[in-house]
Amino acid sequence: MKAQCRNPLKVKAVTKELTAAEWIESLGEKGWTDPRFTASLIDVLLKAVERTAIVVVADLTGEVVFVSPDYSNKMDFDQHELIGIPFRDLLKMTHVKQEDIYALEKVISSKKEFKGTYRHLTKSGKEIVLETVFLPVLQNSSNACLILILHQDLTPLTEAEAVIQEFRTVDVMTGMKNRKQFEADLFKTLQLCKETREEAAVLLLDMDRFKFYNDTLGHSTGDKLIEEISKELKKFETQDTAVYRYGSDEFAIIRSGRIDVKSLAVMAEKLLTRFALPFSVKGNELFITASAGISQIPQSGFTPPELIKQAETAMHYAKETVKGHWCFYKHSLKTKHEERVLLEDRLRKAVRKKSFELYYQPQLNLRKKTVTGLEALLRWKDDMLGEVPPSVFIPVAEETGLIIPIGDWVLEEACRQTKKWTEDGFSLKIGINVSPFQFHTENLVGKITSIIEKTGISPRYLDLEITETGLLINQEKNLKIIEQLKMLGIRITIDDFGTGYSSLSYLRHFPVDALKIDQLFIREISENCNDQAIVTSIIQMAHNMNISVTAEGVETQAMVTFLNERECDEIQGYLYSEPLQAEEVVHFIKTAYRKLLL
Ligand code: C2E
Ligand code: MG
Ligand code: MG
Repeated sequence: MKAQCRNPLKVKAVTKELTAAEWIESLGEKGWTDPRFTASLIDVLLKAVERTAIVVVADLTGEVVFVSPDYSNKMDFDQHELIGIPFRDLLKMTHVKQEDIYALEKVISSKKEFKGTYRHLTKSGKEIVLETVFLPVLQNSSNACLILILHQDLTPLTEAEAVIQEFRTVDVMTGMKNRKQFEADLFKTLQLCKETREEAAVLLLDMDRFKFYNDTLGHSTGDKLIEEISKELKKFETQDTAVYRYGSDEFAIIRSGRIDVKSLAVMAEKLLTRFALPFSVKGNELFITASAGISQIPQSGFTPPELIKQAETAMHYAKETVKGHWCFYKHSLKTKHEERVLLEDRLRKAVRKKSFELYYQPQLNLRKKTVTGLEALLRWKDDMLGEVPPSVFIPVAEETGLIIPIGDWVLEEACRQTKKWTEDGFSLKIGINVSPFQFHTENLVGKITSIIEKTGISPRYLDLEITETGLLINQEKNLKIIEQLKMLGIRITIDDFGTGYSSLSYLRHFPVDALKIDQLFIREISENCNDQAIVTSIIQMAHNMNISVTAEGVETQAMVTFLNERECDEIQGYLYSEPLQAEEVVHFIKTAYRKLLL
């Protein structure tokens, strides 16, 4: 018994909620039977209520007879301002809604227990949310009754809930409504459309090559760019047009009300036209394009997932055909999108299995009449899709990031093969195409250094081809990388020259060894005066800067004659050889070219 009394507050594991009355009653069973003890316990409990609880006591006439200090403090009133006034006035003073005041007055007169949650304003105007429990205390001998009104302050909880709710539906970075809100709003809009027979459309907008910008310029600049874009997109919001941040670089628009194909087309055009102007980010002017897809009811499906899927399909189609465009969803687009998904899937498998091959196209020096080098060109033959040209799968590899493992494989394989040729007595430089993605995202210099060490190739045989546009994206960083590569003794060639900025002036900034005139200018060189003038001036200016020139896509003797007269340094093209398998290269060097150069 003594042991039991030592700690009366220690209760066994409680399986159901224990009321205070039950607890006090249970003390009797445990030997705490002295009524004076029970009285003083109740006294203490009352003090606890008075000191810590937010309590109001009213009588049946509705007069406030007591407010606890916590209540008056919370409401910024003095106790005496509240005691003695009608409960209705107390509710008015704390700005409870009129309809709630009526309801609560009825609760008091009903003498029934009641629980509800109400918003109040304190005297100083702060909003607080109180959960209120009405407990009638009846005196048995008479009809007298006091109503104990206990409050629990839910303000911190509701504030936290509001913040959570906001985080749930608002994108923190841009302050835009997020994807969750988009889905909820789309659901509501479509419900409404069913009733009103009005129309709705979804437009999805995705930045082109955003990953590239992010990786190249750094993620904080990428984030800033998104912020700037979202500021511009918010300007498109109207009563019928809501804009959302749908994903990292994706935005969504819900258009409702009276719409037609023409007005949607106008909106899409306006949106994309904005991307013709630069975005100002950290003092720089950045250009980025975006592609958009539109789906519409009743043309498209009626459910939110259907509408979203179709807008996505249209957006992907726009992206895959001509970036920076928009497109309405049509059923035929579905198959195109499915084709692209299949291609990506097969490419991933090919990367895992390394099922690629390198072909090598000879490059010839016209003056020396020798084969001076080879360009390594990637080939992929898929079991299901057959031969897929690099012009089709390289852009997909770049968009998906698969270009990194593919590029690594190309570098190592081309170096390994070239080293083998040098050991066999054929010293040839090897042109390797490096995607701008490889140039910026990975530690290219470190990677190449370790490949050189691993394969034992001399760096002077390495000739990295980077396209003109790729070179200009982040000039400062590129310059550093190129300088490091040059320090290793590697050659740098600008590929597809003339298709990008077509300016030789920037070449002064880059220590490049050679440039390859794009096939576009060579194709009609025998008859097109413009192309002749362009090629002539490119060769002259490059030579003035001590830069060697290669012409690619040379298919006829007439082309060779023209280029020879202009002292073009190297020639590459089907006239001499198509890209060859590694085993065919030595045979070509030993025999075939001699005939061709006669
Ligand atoms: P590129 O680097 O400008 O390569 C030259 C392209 O022209 C090659 O196409 C080549 O086969 C083709 N070609 C060569 N001589 C002639 C000719 O006389 N007439 C015509 N019409 N075409 C000729 P291919 O192999 O289809 O490669 C296309 C592009 O794919 C390449 O253009 C390059 O940008 C990219 N590529 C190829 N292999 C790789 C690679 O390993 N890595 C990367 N990043 N890109 C690659
Ligand atoms: Mg090339
Ligand atoms: Mg080229």
